[in-house]
Amino acid sequence: MAEFAEPLLRLITEFKRLPGIGQKSAQRIAFHLLRAPREDAERLAQALFDIKDKLTICTECNNISDGEICVYCRDPHRDHGLLCVIEEPHNILAVETTNTFRGLYHVLHGAISPLRGIGPEQLKIKGLVDRIHRGEIQEIILATNPTVEGEATAVYLARLLKPLGPRVTRIAMGIPVGSDLEFADEVTMSRSLENRREM
Ligand SMILES: [Zn+2]
Repeated sequence: MAEFAEPLLRLITEFKRLPGIGQKSAQRIAFHLLRAPREDAERLAQALFDIKDKLTICTECNNISDGEICVYCRDPHRDHGLLCVIEEPHNILAVETTNTFRGLYHVLHGAISPLRGIGPEQLKIKGLVDRIHRGEIQEIILATNPTVEGEATAVYLARLLKPLGPRVTRIAMGIPVGSDLEFADEVTMSRSLENRREM
């Protein structure tokens, strides 16, 4: 077992806590930074502080944003009548890689899970209802994950939102059941959007 000087060991330990980083990658990154100029390390440290200090939640869709309104919500070229509902901000990336969706988003920040004690009141649903009441939205695509929790959330939202007027659809299940949108490739995600069904 290799022995590391304490600060180096601490850095390696921190990297290993990140998703997808094992012992070897953690060591490689740590030694790379050790050799790199001080400015490189400072830039990295500053970037880490900035995501904690300079980001907020979009008041419109709850996406992560560097201002009151996020880049998607302030884009006039996007279809403001079409809304894609997702569980977490990173799920936007899966939908965006398809290059076929030009609407806006609504991030719930979770899914209904009785087992974990998460009910609809803990999700960002009120803002969604408010957006529909403003009357601009014609269709809502429920793109919660294909898990028990994601399905339960989609069913709950369909029942709640359909009486309010907009068309409510659910993405098709080309995505493996029990997985996260994050792991869907562009083609699968694209087809899931295309083949969405009425709720
Ligand atoms: Zn937004």
